[in-house]
Amino acid sequence: MARVLLEHITKKYGDVLAVDDLNIEVRDKEFLVLVGPSGCGKSTALRMIAGLEDISSGSLYIGERVVNEVAPKDRDIAMVFQSYALYPHMTVFDNIAFGLRLRKDKDLSFLHTASTAGNGATMAANPRRLREAAIRARVEQVADGIGLREYLNRKPAQLSGGQRQRVALGRAIVREPQVFLMDEPLSNLDAKMRVSTRAELQRLHRRLGITTIYVTHDQVEAMTMGDRIAVMKNGILQQLDTPEVLYSRPANMFVATFIGSPAMNTVLADVQGGEGGMFLQASGVRLRVPEHYAQRLLACPGKQIYFGIRPEYIHDARYAHDMDPQNVADAHVDLVEPLGSDVQLYVSVENIQFVVRVDDRTFVSAGNTIKLAFDMEHMHGFEPGTERSLL
Ligand code: ADP
Repeated sequence: MARVLLEHITKKYGDVLAVDDLNIEVRDKEFLVLVGPSGCGKSTALRMIAGLEDISSGSLYIGERVVNEVAPKDRDIAMVFQSYALYPHMTVFDNIAFGLRLRKDKDLSFLHTASTAGNGATMAANPRRLREAAIRARVEQVADGIGLREYLNRKPAQLSGGQRQRVALGRAIVREPQVFLMDEPLSNLDAKMRVSTRAELQRLHRRLGITTIYVTHDQVEAMTMGDRIAVMKNGILQQLDTPEVLYSRPANMFVATFIGSPAMNTVLADVQGGEGGMFLQASGVRLRVPEHYAQRLLACPGKQIYFGIRPEYIHDARYAHDMDPQNVADAHVDLVEPLGSDVQLYVSVENIQFVVRVDDRTFVSAGNTIKLAFDMEHMHGFEPGTERSLL
C-alpha cells in the first residue's frame, strides 16, 4: 500500500501548459478523484503518475520513492482505461491471467505463499504446474470478488459492456498493485450499468484498500465515489477536499458551479450597508445578509459581489415559515420540471433567472407566480475578478 505525492508537478507540451504546479497528496488507501471539464489536464496528470508521460518539472513519489525516472512497469501501479482493450481471442480467464503469466516468480507474492504452504517435493518436481495452479487459484479468487467466476471460459465478445469492464478491472486487481489508476473507466457503459459498476468499484475499494486515483469529467461520479476530490481547471488545482466541503464551502465560483446539479445560481449584486443591516441588491431583488456573513462582507459596501445560492435553498414560501420575511420575493414560473419527489422550477424574479428545487407539495405551472423564500444562511459570495469565495 502506498501514498502518492505530487510536488509542483508541471507538464508542458510546447507552449501548452497542460498541468500547472500541481500539489496533491493522495493518502494511503484513499480513493481520490481528479475531476474537471475536458482539457483541464486530469488525464495528463494521471498519465504522468502512470509513467506514460514525462514530467516537465516537479517530483512524483509513490510510497517513499521518487519515481520520475522509473519505468511504468516498475512503479507497481495498475491502470484501467475507458477502452478496456481485452484480447478478443482469449477467454476471460486468460485475459485476467495474462499479466501474471508474464511475471517472474519473485514478483508473484501469492506464489511464495503457495510454495511454502505446499509440498516442497512436488514443487521441485514440477514448478511450472505449481505456478499455473497458483495462478488459477488467484484468478478464480479475483473473479469471485467481481462476480465473473461463471464467465471465465467466455470470450470478451460474449460479454456485456459492464462485464468486459469488470474483466479489465480483474486484470488490474490480480496484480495486487500498490496503486490503481483509473481514467474514465465507466464512460463506455450505459447509465444503469454505470451506477451499478460505480457501487461495485466502491465496495471493491473498501475491501482491497488499495490507493486509487480516478479521473472523470462527471461531477456526480466524483461526488459519489471520492473520499476526496481534486477539482481542476486549465491545468490548475482549484480545490482538494471531501465531497461535503466542496459542496457546502466551495473555494471559488468555478467549483461552486461545477459541483452540484442543477448548478448553483449566481448573480452579480450590489452590496448595500445601512440601518437594517446589509443587503444584496440585483435588479429588483433585495435580500438581507445574515449578521455573521455581513461581518465578512464589511469591506464590500458600495461594491459588487457574485451572490450564489443552490436551488434547494430557495423554497416555496408557503412551506418555509422560519425564514426571514425580508427574503421573500415574487417569482414568475417559466418552466416546471417534475422529477418525482422533487420539482425543479425555472423562474424569473424581476428579470433575473433562478433554478429552484422544491418538493412535490408545490403545484405550479409555467406562467403562474409563486412566492419564494431565499434561505440566506446558505448563501455564497464571490469576489468579482478573482471569483474567490468571500465567506
Ligand atoms: P483532460 O483529461 O482534462 O480532458 P488532458 O490532460 O487530456 O485533459 O489535456 C490537457 C491539455 O493538454 C489540453 O489542452 C490538451 O489539448 C493538451 N494536450 C494533451 N495531450 C497533448 C499532447 N500529446 N500534445 C499536445 N497537447 C496535449
